[in-house]
Formats: sequence, structure tokens, C-alpha cells
Amino acid sequence: MKKILALALCALMVAVCFVGCGTTPAQTDAAPTTTAAADAAAETEAAPAKQETLVMGTNATFPPYEFVDDNGKIVGIDAEIAAAIADKLGATLEIKDMEFDSLIPAVQNGAIDFAMAGMTVTEERKLSVDFSDTYAQGVQVVIVPENSTIASIDDLDGKMIGVQSGTTGDIYCTGDYGEDHVKQFTNGALAVAALQNGQVDCVVIDNEPAKNFVAANAGLKILDTAYAEEDYAIAIAKTSSELLKNVNDALAALKADGTVAKIIEKYIPAN
Ligand code: GLN
Repeated sequence: MKKILALALCALMVAVCFVGCGTTPAQTDAAPTTTAAADAAAETEAAPAKQETLVMGTNATFPPYEFVDDNGKIVGIDAEIAAAIADKLGATLEIKDMEFDSLIPAVQNGAIDFAMAGMTVTEERKLSVDFSDTYAQGVQVVIVPENSTIASIDDLDGKMIGVQSGTTGDIYCTGDYGEDHVKQFTNGALAVAALQNGQVDCVVIDNEPAKNFVAANAGLKILDTAYAEEDYAIAIAKTSSELLKNVNDALAALKADGTVAKIIEKYIPAN
């Protein structure tokens, strides 16, 4: 019994030392435990990269970056680059389609692991999410009817501008011309339809989707002067720094071996 008591006392002293001795020399004894704990913590942090499924959020109304093909599958530059990244990280890619406006909140609340949607890096968005290295460039352009009196950006004053809600086109135009001159739509196709039936005078949107919409709708053209030039990147939660690093490493490898260029070239042949 005495022995047991002595052992228990010993154990108690050790325990007290672990808890109480913090940075005192006793920490040397505690070191292996601390390291093991740190390793375990690091593993937990690295978990997103090792998870079997990586969930990408997108808004599949933005050809050629993301759109629904004839078989109902979400395809495009972003879908293919994301699949290549997931492959490099040993994960399967799952794509969730949602409104563009919902993407950053979904990244923040963990509903998706990352958002990839021809998303422009902006200082304001950086307050809410982290961005990967950029993988493509975008340009905000103006679509007008072929017979429009709008000949350049200077003619936009006082006009009604159609935009996709929450996009940089929306943010710039609302800032430059005021809310009353900007009509928001849930996607670019609806904004273009509104342009076709005269509800708006022009649509400000990213150049590649603009080319697709103009090709699919007779009587429209894109102005030569661009509204703004931007960089596209992948949005990742600020709490997922390990995933961000792994995505950047994968992206760098996919840029270096020509995969990214090949995917972009497949969807934008002139590039
Ligand atoms: N590049 C624009 C933005 O980030 C539009 C993106 C989109 O509509 N998918 O706001």
C-alpha cells in the first residue's frame, strides 16, 4: 500500500511539474511529450491536404472558366485546373455549384474547401479569405448592342449598366456610376438577356465570358477599351494555411510542367 501511495505521489509530482513548471528546466523531461503533441497538432493542421475529397465551390455560368456541358457536368478551365491540383494532393475533387455571392461566405464557414470561379484578387476580399498564387488574368470589358451610341468607357455616364451581382464589374460600376445606374443579375447570361431586351444599355463583365456571350447572342459587340485588368486566384479560408501552401505548391508544379497553359489553351485556343 505504501508503495502504491509513493508511486501515486511520484506521479502527482511529475504531473504537477508538467503543468506547473512551464519553461523551467523540467521542460527538458517534458520535451519528447511536447514534440509529440506538436507533431500531432501539425498533423491535424495538415489534415485538409490529406483529406480524400476536396470540395471546390464555383458558379458554373462563367464560360470558359466554368459552365455546365451538354451532359450536365461542370467543366471549364477552373474545373480542370482544380482536378489537376486535387490529383497532385491525392484527393478526389467534388464541385459545388452556387451563386457567385455565396462563394466567399462558403469558404469562410467551411462549406467548401476553396472557391475557384474566375475570382479576381481584391484587397477587400483579402480581408475575408486568403488567395492562392494567380493562375490567369481577366479583363473587365463592356458589351453593347452593335448599334449602341456607347463607343467607349467615357460614354457610360448616365447609362444603365448590367452586371453580375457581387463581381468586380458590379463593385467598380457601382463605385464609379452609383447604385441607380447599375442593375444586378445573378449571372452574366441574365445580364446579357436584359441587354438584348433593352433593360440595360451595356453589360460589364470579364472578357472571356463576354466573348462567349457575344458569340452566342446575335447583335452584340465588345468595346475595344477595357474597364480594368485583374488576376484570378483560388480563395481559401484564412484558417487553412496548410491547404493554401499545398495548393500553391501544386499550382507551381502544374504551371512549370505546362499543365495550366495546356488547360487554358484548350478552352481559349487563341491564347
Ligand atoms: N472576376 C470577377 C470577380 O471576381 C467575376 C467572377 C465571376 O463572375 N465568376 O468578381
